[in-house]
Amino acid sequence: MKKQILVVGGCGYIGTHMVKALLDAGYEVLTLDNLSTGHREFLPGGQFVFGDIRDSALLDKVFTGHTINAVMHFAALIEVRESVKLPLKYYQNNVSATINLLDAMARHNVDKFIFSSSAAVYGEPEYIPLDENHPCRPTNPYGRTKLMIEEVLSDTARTGKIKYTALRYFNAAGADNSGTIGENHTPESHLIPLVLQVALGKRDNITIFGSDHDTPDGTCIRDYVHVNDLAQAHLLALKALENGITKAAYNLGTSRGYSVLDVIKTARKITTNTIPARQAEKRQGDPAVLVASSEKAKKELGWHPQYENLDAIIESAWKWHQKQMIPNDATTG
Ligand code: UDP
Repeated sequence: MKKQILVVGGCGYIGTHMVKALLDAGYEVLTLDNLSTGHREFLPGGQFVFGDIRDSALLDKVFTGHTINAVMHFAALIEVRESVKLPLKYYQNNVSATINLLDAMARHNVDKFIFSSSAAVYGEPEYIPLDENHPCRPTNPYGRTKLMIEEVLSDTARTGKIKYTALRYFNAAGADNSGTIGENHTPESHLIPLVLQVALGKRDNITIFGSDHDTPDGTCIRDYVHVNDLAQAHLLALKALENGITKAAYNLGTSRGYSVLDVIKTARKITTNTIPARQAEKRQGDPAVLVASSEKAKKELGWHPQYENLDAIIESAWKWHQKQMIPNDATTG
């Protein structure tokens, strides 16, 4: 019998790619999503339940009505700046709701959990590349919500009630090569989709946040990791949990950094559009460089990211963006 995985937030950007990867790997998938930011029409398949993980009665129904082997949790708010303005919204959505989900899992003896964590748990880097031993001192409520849940998981795992893996994503980017799923946030704040929206004429220009960072070209350097590589890491983490191996947290990045200018130049080349750029002040709290060491995931999970250069990542995103009529929202992040 096929194993069934509950994907919470399966209608979002990373969630849809995960659902596709699980279906391709032969799992049954049940997606639970409140569609606050996700898109039902992009769900690649499997069963769907509309609802919120704060609804305990609904969770009881889901866990009673299905034999769930493991839970993958993608349903979180992700806007750093919004988390500073509306911290309670973030603690409510990302922390309370997740605890509610874990509680329901415990009631129904579902013990495998894969958590979407973030490089934001580290805060300002003390050294690069960041490995998992780097101190965790998040500098904003968003990062703190992710770290809090990692701590909740660690404490709960000690009781034997749960086996978990927390995957700390660096900058998720790109889209599945089918061109049927991809990044679609409203409002959009991420660099690559914004740059491609300029190329599509949806925006006049791209704003470069800060040109005097301590980097070779003065713009911030990030580690862009393809969303399908993230999904593959989840499959490997799931296999490890199924085999009883739990190692807590893993960084997921490519170990290569690209600057904001690198992204713009690569997008100009791929789209053959001039993509006008304008300079602006630094974004508060933006570290100059965030690059992962993913040696642990490579060694222990056997993870081998396929998309190691920016061209391939942006090409896949471009394919998706050209197919979309993304609304021209006014917010530039
Ligand atoms: N960035 C930018 N202009 C934008 C959006 C982002 O210069 O309109 C920069 C941002 O300061 C950061 C990098 O691009 O250095 C990646 O930002 P994004 O919001 O995509 O991800 P983050 O690294 O903040 O999670």
